[in-house]
Amino acid sequence: MLTESTTLLILGGGPGGYVAAIRAAQLGIATVLIEGESLGGTCLNVGCIPSKALIHVADEFDKTRHFAANSPLGISVQSPVIDIAKTVQWKDGVVAKLTSGVALLLKKAGARVIKGFARIVDGKTVEVKPADGGDPWRIHCEHLLLATGSVATALPNLPFGGNVISSTEALSPATLPKRLVVVGAGYIGLELGIVYRKLGVEVAIVEAQPRLLPAYDEELTKPVAASLRQLGIEAHTGCTVRGLNAAGNAVRIRNLAGEERELPADRVLVAVGRKPRTEGWGLETLGLTMNGNAVQIDSQCRTSMRNVWAIGDLTGEPMLAHRAMAQGEMVAELIAGKRREFVPAAIPAVCYTDPEIVVVGLSPHEAEAAGLDIIHAHFPFAANGRSLTLESSSGFVRVVARRDNHLILGWQAVGRGVAELAAAFAQSLEMGACLEDVAHTIHAHPTLGEAVQETALRALGQAIHV
Ligand code: FAD
Ligand code: NAD
Repeated sequence: MLTESTTLLILGGGPGGYVAAIRAAQLGIATVLIEGESLGGTCLNVGCIPSKALIHVADEFDKTRHFAANSPLGISVQSPVIDIAKTVQWKDGVVAKLTSGVALLLKKAGARVIKGFARIVDGKTVEVKPADGGDPWRIHCEHLLLATGSVATALPNLPFGGNVISSTEALSPATLPKRLVVVGAGYIGLELGIVYRKLGVEVAIVEAQPRLLPAYDEELTKPVAASLRQLGIEAHTGCTVRGLNAAGNAVRIRNLAGEERELPADRVLVAVGRKPRTEGWGLETLGLTMNGNAVQIDSQCRTSMRNVWAIGDLTGEPMLAHRAMAQGEMVAELIAGKRREFVPAAIPAVCYTDPEIVVVGLSPHEAEAAGLDIIHAHFPFAANGRSLTLESSSGFVRVVARRDNHLILGWQAVGRGVAELAAAFAQSLEMGACLEDVAHTIHAHPTLGEAVQETALRALGQAIHV
């Protein structure tokens, strides 16, 4: 067996692991990254990027169908068709560009990448079987960083296989089904459910909780629920799934009153959450303290074993790529001797539904539950010129601030294109901005950003355009 020693050994080349590797190598730390499948991890290969690529395709296709149906914009086209094989090929091209870019960045920084599946021997030793079938390696390290990510949660009565698929298969369809049933109306269920509907598939969504996107407050999700109705997506909330029918061509569901019915389906997407990837690579040999099914970490991403670190989805919620990246960068800097701690003012979250939702910091309800005396205000996109020029008038921006000193505690928005407001929202929280800071900043006209300024003005009782 070949042996090698390094300062930092990273398991997993997703956004957490690859960012940690690049930053560590930049800081002169001898770094080895082991990736069992493909650099970029879930996010680049079967998550954030492919889903957003398909959302773009679905939006464009929907737009052309809108033009074909006598659009008021004066544009007309013949009825469009979708070539799904070509769509998937284009999406794969975007993914390939980004993953090969990550490989180049790692090389440029000086991090060594081994392609193969790693198995932990102890807290300082890992064995890896190279993917190319070469001799196994035993690698010794001073620091071990665990970044193995997460896997889709399966339902016992609707196990993955055949026509029951996870988001991974849903992102690379060989053909489009006629009828898709989506189980789970969270991030994945709604983002991909809307994609399939816009591509012409009949879609029904089943959600166990009483409403869609239960993690967000109802005011925020209302415009999304209205859009689903307009798109013709059936939503079955407060329903549990019982399994497939005997013929395997329908999903049996039961509502809160105990009534059962069947939803015809030639494909079923199960999107009921993800769980940390803790099995199959020897994690148990370390006996780390766990936090439920995630590896427990402190505010510096240290685990319960000295010099063993963990980041990203493996450490639980929120399972977001930008959190994993920020943690990875911090761990590299800590190993290089810098003083760092993971205490963000907020981690923004964006749901790429139609319309999009963005949440940064505290909602009014969360702030009140924390015992804070707050003011909050919202500004509707119906009063924003830019929105109207984009044929969109639904949604709003909302701000939450302390009543005494007007310190901003949170922003939420729902509407077309609001994902891009996440940067301004997060910056204002991270910089400790007050309502006056935003209200008295000149925002370019006409932009969606003006709605942000107007929201702050409204919270101060000084709104101009509403
Ligand atoms: P991962 O990206 O899961 O990477 C872990 C890597 O470790 C994998 O490449 C795996 O092959 C490798 N690995 C595991 N075990 C071993 C081993 N023993 N040896 C070698 N390699 C190993 N987040 C967002 O912020 N925005 C989005 O828009 C978004 N959209 C998403 C859409 C979908 C459909 C899905 C499924 C997820 C989405 N996410 C999104 C979540 C995001 O993908 C994850 O939060 C992020 O990828 C986590 O990064 P990570 O580095 O912790 O793990
Ligand atoms: P999720 O937690 O967002 O949603 C799962 C939904 O399934 C919930 O609404 C839940 O109530 C419901 N559910 C659970 N069990 C059910 C059952 N038996 N029957 C019916 N409904 C059931 O999970 P997800 O959509 O699978 O996404 C997983 C993770 O991936 C997310 O938590 C997020 O961290 C990440 N992600 C992020 C983005 C983004 O940032 N835009 C996009 C996709 C995924």
